[in-house]
Amino acid sequence: MADAGGNGGHLPAGDAGSPAGTGGGPGGPAPGGGLADGVPVLAVQDLVAGYGEAVARYGEAVALGGVSISAAQGTVTAVLGANGAGKTTLLRAISGLIKVRGGSVLLDGVDVTRRKPEDMARAGVAHVPEGQGVITELTVEENLRLGALIRAGRAVRAAALEQAYQQFPVLASRRRKPAATLSGGERQMLVIARALLAAPRVLLLDEPSLGLAPIVISQVMALVAGLRDSTGLTILLVEQNARAALAIADRGVVLNLGKVAVTAQAADLAADTGLLNHYLGL
Ligand code: ATP
Repeated sequence: MADAGGNGGHLPAGDAGSPAGTGGGPGGPAPGGGLADGVPVLAVQDLVAGYGEAVARYGEAVALGGVSISAAQGTVTAVLGANGAGKTTLLRAISGLIKVRGGSVLLDGVDVTRRKPEDMARAGVAHVPEGQGVITELTVEENLRLGALIRAGRAVRAAALEQAYQQFPVLASRRRKPAATLSGGERQMLVIARALLAAPRVLLLDEPSLGLAPIVISQVMALVAGLRDSTGLTILLVEQNARAALAIADRGVVLNLGKVAVTAQAADLAADTGLLNHYLGL
């Protein structure tokens, strides 16, 4: 049963059912390697963040009003909520794109709160914003190479690129084509593949289903689940499409007005039609 009410329902550390993962991102073992049992890869504690006026009026309209989320290695956590609930703001605050006003972000138990976006990327957090943001004038390969820039050494980057092509054969066959020629689903694959080239341990995915046809949404969700299962990646999946996200997620978190309203096993959330209706209008 879903654990609802106020800002309660926080996940206790490490309870997201971590399978024995590989301990590394898709590009190889990540800094720090495996973790002691019970330490979540990503833990957000009482995070407060907002924009301009909203911050000045903290307590009324701050975008994130003290959010706590914990994600174990090799799990997908679906982050759900109505428009304006604070989902995108949560990802931006974690990855250092907006100022954190309170609380903390822990990566493998290490406090990384307020690190710059480039430092978060180096620490192993990859952020894929909503909107399939490929650079349309560049080829598929040029887009991918951008993702590998953070990796040290030409040989490492070349190997990572080949690995990406093995993981995403559709991109391999289009590597010389301008990204502008890709379909929406292919663009989504490209931005995910580009993020993976940095060899992250944590992937923050913002609305990957946006603007895609239902069949393509299923393919993208299957891809996300496959990444978790094959690489041990820890994924925060922000989605308006709650049913598609919960179908592949391990845990679900519902945000409401910048606070955690519910945290539960994904299957329990998916089965709780009253709750989904209340918070998401489904
Ligand atoms: P959606 O699904 O519509 O993207 P969301 O759950 O991702 O919604 P956020 O985009 O995080 O919600 O927005 C949370 C709150 O912060 C909202 O009240 C929104 O209006 C406000 N907000 C978001 N971006 C900005 C911004 N750049 N400047 C000022 N306020 C913002």
